[in-house]
Amino acid sequence: MSGNESRLEAIHQITNRTPMSVKTPESLDKIWACDVFNLAKMEEALSKNAFKALKKTVQTGAPLDAATADVVAAAMKEWAVSKGVKFFSHIFYPMTNITAEKHDGFIVTNADGRAITEFTGSLLSKGEPDGSSFPNGSIRMTSAARGYTAWDPTSPAYIMQTDNGATLMIPSVFMSWTGEALDKKIPLLRSNDAMNKAAQKVLSLMGETDIATLNSSCGAEQEYFLVDSNFANARPDLLLAGRTLFGASPAKGQQFDDHYFGAIPARVQVFMQDFEDQLYRLGIPAKTHHNEVAPAQFEIAPYFEAANVAADHQQLMMTLMKSTAKKHGFLCLLHEKPFAGINGSGKHVNWSVGNSTQGNLLDPGSTPHDNLNFLLFCGAVIRGVHLFGPLLRAAIASAGNDHRLGANEAPPAILSVYLGDQLEKVFKDIKEGKLTKSEAGGMMDLGLSQILHFERDPGDRNRTSPFAFTGNRFEFRAVGSAQSVSGPLVAMNTMLADSLNWIAGKLEGELNKGVDQAAAVISVLKELMDKHGNVVFGGDGYSSDWHKMAVEERGLKNIPTAADALPALREESVKKLFKSTGVLTPVELESRFEVYAEQYVLSIEVEAKLVVDMAKTVIYPAATRYLSDLAMTSSSMADMGIELDSSTMTMVAGEVNAMMAAVAELGDAMGKHDFATTEEHMQFCANEIRSLMDKIRLHADALEAEVADELWPLPKYQEMLFIR
Ligand code: ADP
Ligand code: MG
Repeated sequence: MSGNESRLEAIHQITNRTPMSVKTPESLDKIWACDVFNLAKMEEALSKNAFKALKKTVQTGAPLDAATADVVAAAMKEWAVSKGVKFFSHIFYPMTNITAEKHDGFIVTNADGRAITEFTGSLLSKGEPDGSSFPNGSIRMTSAARGYTAWDPTSPAYIMQTDNGATLMIPSVFMSWTGEALDKKIPLLRSNDAMNKAAQKVLSLMGETDIATLNSSCGAEQEYFLVDSNFANARPDLLLAGRTLFGASPAKGQQFDDHYFGAIPARVQVFMQDFEDQLYRLGIPAKTHHNEVAPAQFEIAPYFEAANVAADHQQLMMTLMKSTAKKHGFLCLLHEKPFAGINGSGKHVNWSVGNSTQGNLLDPGSTPHDNLNFLLFCGAVIRGVHLFGPLLRAAIASAGNDHRLGANEAPPAILSVYLGDQLEKVFKDIKEGKLTKSEAGGMMDLGLSQILHFERDPGDRNRTSPFAFTGNRFEFRAVGSAQSVSGPLVAMNTMLADSLNWIAGKLEGELNKGVDQAAAVISVLKELMDKHGNVVFGGDGYSSDWHKMAVEERGLKNIPTAADALPALREESVKKLFKSTGVLTPVELESRFEVYAEQYVLSIEVEAKLVVDMAKTVIYPAATRYLSDLAMTSSSMADMGIELDSSTMTMVAGEVNAMMAAVAELGDAMGKHDFATTEEHMQFCANEIRSLMDKIRLHADALEAEVADELWPLPKYQEMLFIR
């Protein structure tokens, strides 16, 4: 289709769409985790001893012997085959944000030509995809290909149902033949280990005797947009870049604040129900869903789980979200900023650490001032964010997130910690060397007898903070919507491990002096707050005052783009952090820098090519066609003696020429390849390439506002944003 035909056809299709039929939702107890080989199913299928060994591995990370692996493999296969499965696949998470899988049949043939199914412990434990075809940041040369996937028993296997059949999916780690981590799971598991070891030290110094393995937890709130596929198919930018590279602001956007928590459009509800049914079958505890701030924007938040499982579930959720949306005639956009001028999407990563004996160590209880374990763990987070703010910033750096962070709807690109009134006061007192009783929130009394009085939270929420304490966890609010949660979780667990190690050292020193426990804790935390208290900020993180104060008075860093952020991965302090905690070797860390930097450059280059393409082949023809119409009309009017004002023509011609001049400039800029360093190349993309793209867009969007609607080829914002 050419011209504006595809746009008109899209509108026609949507207007005449027959609604998807609504399935009656299945009851939760019937479908919950029915496609997951979880502990409950293993308990049924395995001998007592085999189950005990496996459970120990899942709960404490203890090694699993080969004989038990064989027994588990056999039981897993039997369960899967009974559900119609013929294939299995190790599923793993390369350094990009994608999920990778390699399918194998259970089938083997024997000498007399019969086919049987077979699955052994060694097939379950280990797979062998090509290690050099995934980004590996120069760890492997193209010719040195061997890589392994290995079963992670701490994340349950499950069956992925598709229209083409069912596959047994085995969550796995991915490494090179040389033993380096090529994925996002290995560092996550290691960071959890490091955190556990350090936490054990602190807790035993605090006199705890029974200390179960500590684990980190994650509950991720995912924001996303839905756009009708008819529109998406008429927009190459949405299809290829996941965001609109052109598009003028509509008359009605989000200025009425009428979408947030508004009634969910019926068509979207049908999608959500279908999507959530699939999540339930896979044991993913989808809990809340609602409209978000921007039109066509929504959020889903599953209940929190162990970080490793939550990270796997997050990846699976993103995959299912896209495939289910497609089935319902939508394109699901996970990009951080699909539409200019209206809110972008983030992923809030709620994170806490705890175990079965001490509970959640970030839960202050009702009297935080005498919950010394809590104070130490909370203090450890404060120190971590202060020392490793740039690392946290690097962990959320992406081409997409550049458009969102620091804009006036999203967290600033300065890492600070929000504690809330009550805790801010407790830590302020600690800084002054004292521990006074903390204030509770008090009762909420509306003066209405029919409304029950309830206890108010001790602190308000702060939407403008990138890293906020929210009652019993920290919420990292600056993570990008399309990103894997693993990177941020690794950074948080590792910085916490480092802080807890520091605290253990200091605490031991104090206790050896013979001071009592509370005094020792205060003394350590006082030193911590003296050094790192600067990172605590309770005010408006969006304000320009804060941007000035944070940098000039508090020495915090404002790191606006991924090009500025990623070099943190090369800093000595960060290398030391990962090496000392055993989370990443210097080689593994460097490979991550290279992979993320390359992804950044590639994403911007792909977008830039698309901008040039669309400007030349879509926008220029529409604008010149309009000019030619105007010129013809004007000359035939002149023949009749009527003079048509030529200012529109002059203006449109001016915009067309300016746009094409900028297109030529961008074309030249994209031809530049001689960069001395990767850092320089990233900066060039972040600054030169992006500002030329913006310049072209400015002219193109001005043209959208001038050119006759019937000639405009691209679906407009007002058409795409309001779901029918
Ligand atoms: P809000 O939008 O108010 O921040 P939501 O209910 O949408 O809250 O999401 C909060 C997320 O935090 C959920 O995924 C929830 O399960 C998770 N969460 C709650 N408690 C914890 C905790 N202790 N550790 C980690 N995540 C948690
Ligand atoms: Mg939240």
